[in-house]
Amino acid sequence: MYYLREDGPKVSEETEEIPSEMRQPSVVCFLLLAYRLDAQNPPPAITVYTQFESASSAVSIEVMKEELESIMHPLGVDFTWRDLHDSTGSQVSVELVVVSFKGTCEMSGVLAASGQTGALGWTHMSDGAILPFSDLDCDKIRRFIGPETRSLAGEQREIVYGRAIGRVLAHELYHIFTNTTKHASWGVAKAFYSAHDLVSDQFRFEEKDTNALRAGKLKALLTTRRHGALSFSARDSAR
Ligand SMILES: [Zn+2]
Repeated sequence: MYYLREDGPKVSEETEEIPSEMRQPSVVCFLLLAYRLDAQNPPPAITVYTQFESASSAVSIEVMKEELESIMHPLGVDFTWRDLHDSTGSQVSVELVVVSFKGTCEMSGVLAASGQTGALGWTHMSDGAILPFSDLDCDKIRRFIGPETRSLAGEQREIVYGRAIGRVLAHELYHIFTNTTKHASWGVAKAFYSAHDLVSDQFRFEEKDTNALRAGKLKALLTTRRHGALSFSARDSAR
């Protein structure tokens, strides 16, 4: 099988900026029951298998996971993370993606660099179809945001770096789950990122891109989960 690749997002010099309350007891009860349903109802919705080429910061990788889940939160899907090398092959997943992290995924020791070009991540294709295999270039991402993070203390740099990786990963998952090589004009799905996009406090999909994610490969999965929650609620109320 030969691979093409969907390059992106790429680096750019542009500086675009994207711009609980108390519940009734009955509602709280339903939410708790719904949570119990999820806990008792494996397999998880989307499994992300990870493999690292070199060293990585535990802090950065944890923050990366949190950032991806936060960006994808409007979809209502859960993520489970597994190390590809620890996988037994016996786990059942409804949807899965495999993410390879190239280079060193930690900020310590990075030299501030400028003029970085090219793809921060890419997703593999075969015969015009987008495959659930993405690569992220940890070295390129950390060098790209290096100048922006120079003034930060050690752990804070790893946190900001982890958030940046999570945003690039969300971009690649957008291609996989919408099965498109096209890009949006704004937000996580756009083709070119500035360093500011990667280190800013907030960087999300546009609403139309979130809707495209709901209507793509995840559509059947989201429908199944809604039905599952409804059937549990009906059983519970009949007791
Ligand atoms: Zn792209």
